[in-house]
Amino acid sequence: MKTAIITGSTSGIGLGIAEAFVEAGINVMLNGFGDADAIEATRARLDGLGDARVGYHGADMTKADEIADLIAQTEADLGPCDILVNNAGIQHVAPVEEFPAAKWDAIIAINMTSAFHTIRHALPGMKARKFGRIINIASAHGLVASPYKSAYVTAKHGIIGLTKTIALEAAEHGVTVNAVCPGYVLTPLVESQIPDTAKARGISEEAVKRDVLLAAQATKEFVTVDQLGALCVFLTSDAAAQMTGTALPVDGGWTAH
Ligand code: NAD
Repeated sequence: MKTAIITGSTSGIGLGIAEAFVEAGINVMLNGFGDADAIEATRARLDGLGDARVGYHGADMTKADEIADLIAQTEADLGPCDILVNNAGIQHVAPVEEFPAAKWDAIIAINMTSAFHTIRHALPGMKARKFGRIINIASAHGLVASPYKSAYVTAKHGIIGLTKTIALEAAEHGVTVNAVCPGYVLTPLVESQIPDTAKARGISEEAVKRDVLLAAQATKEFVTVDQLGALCVFLTSDAAAQMTGTALPVDGGWTAH
């Protein structure tokens, strides 16, 4: 049985990927913030879905030593880390001249630098075992920009560069490295932006969804966490062994414009 670490999996996309992995018979180490009782209830629910075992580690993705402990503790509790999904992420929306420096640092640390730390700890074991799957959850904003999201767009472009570089370094060791680039998914990260955007633009929350968030998403539908979970399960399979160094859009046609 394979074992996966998914950063930022107490909510949203990461939690959806965790469910898909457990259903595919992959052990999962959850990670992320939230109410302790709610996290334990989630862990226990996923653990009960099948044979795969599910743990939780609360490493803060801004702290290199806690990230090292996440990898070590997973390997001690669940077995070698075969699959690593770098998913933890935050957002802040402001014009660059008003962008708080502390927010810039946090977004770069959580959305980009944390993947450098998880990869440098997990990759040696993957190479030694001649199997590994690293999936970086980037964004359509790793491929194109939107105004007022300077730190996020920078971090997401950066993680696609990291994806390509590590794909080349790991290519002859049975390890693939790919980025998944979702368009808008209706998770807490996106829902929390809607009221502020509505206020800033003087429009209704429904209009924010249709005319702002989905403006470039040609299908006019949100991507779902289940669709992303299914793609990640595929990327862990033997069928995906020759896919590496890619940035895969799942964005309802957004980046086709
Ligand atoms: P979310 O807010 O629902 O979940 C984010 C997760 O990251 C949570 O589990 C949270 O606890 C965790 N997290 C935040 N800070 C952390 C830290 N310092 N250390 C450890 N964990 C931390 O968000 P989401 O929408 O599910 O986003 C997940 C990823 O998908 C992010 O990288 C995001 O940029 C990306 N993404 C989201 C969308 C979207 O439309 N929702 C689109 C493209 C890409």
